[in-house]
Amino acid sequence: MTRDTMDAAATAEHEAALAAALEAGAAVLRGGGSALDAVTAAVAALEDDPHFNAGRGAVFTYHGTNELDAAVMDGATRAAGAVAGITHTKNPVRLARAVMEHGPHVFLSGAGAEDFARDHGVEQVDPDWFATPERWRQLEEMKSKSLGWFDADLKYGTVGAVAVDGEGHVAAATSTGGLTGKRWGRIGDSPLIGAGTYADDRAGAVSCTGSGEQFIRAGVAHEICARIRLAGESAQAAADAVLAEVGAMGGVGGVIVATPAGDTAIAFTTPGMFRGRADYSGVSEVAIFGVH
Ligand code: ASP
Repeated sequence: MTRDTMDAAATAEHEAALAAALEAGAAVLRGGGSALDAVTAAVAALEDDPHFNAGRGAVFTYHGTNELDAAVMDGATRAAGAVAGITHTKNPVRLARAVMEHGPHVFLSGAGAEDFARDHGVEQVDPDWFATPERWRQLEEMKSKSLGWFDADLKYGTVGAVAVDGEGHVAAATSTGGLTGKRWGRIGDSPLIGAGTYADDRAGAVSCTGSGEQFIRAGVAHEICARIRLAGESAQAAADAVLAEVGAMGGVGGVIVATPAGDTAIAFTTPGMFRGRADYSGVSEVAIFGVH
């Protein structure tokens, strides 16, 4: 996304949506809540907002369905939950959280994951809930132009949040519709623990967006945490180094990082990335475009 492809009205709408999600997470932390609750609240707000490629407003698959992926991870315990190929659960991040808290497993997919959702009272909706005209237009455009899988105009919008709470615990959550026109049950990095999502109190919390295949191959979220933990790198240095590795593989995207000490990093190799940051001192800022 660039200033040329987003007009002022669209920019203002996205900034307002980002600010609302940021506030949903920040309010949890201000009230003494956990990082885990904060990232869940922020991502659920982004899922409900049709401007982003997650929950309502998710991109369409090649066959015109919405198939959603999400993950959540608690840095204090390294407990994690993830789901893929979700078609009826209103907030996939809440289902990932239920998997983390109530199941013996970490990662559930498809119809079985939604059986689990119903068994645990996670809200279900008609699949039409997720569908928006703009995403349909993007699918048709992709098909008509035979665009590549990683066309930046069509693809991005995966949502994620990272947080550190008053106890110094970190958490990460990520949610996505994946790629416009995806086929064959394709799953990207977002719900893969260690690729698109990771949290470890010994290092930090990471959530990713970008060309999922390269993010999987680089194990981006875990790799950033490993560099912080084992090499003593700053969050920003680790994020920049791992995105450079992704770039060398032909991938692009971005990451957000928060450490238990309160360091944060935002890094991306795309022209822009929807993003926001808030802290206990009153900082609250959102942005879309890059500095260049
Ligand atoms: N990383 C996501 C995926 O590959 C897509 C995105 O971030 O837009 O599914």
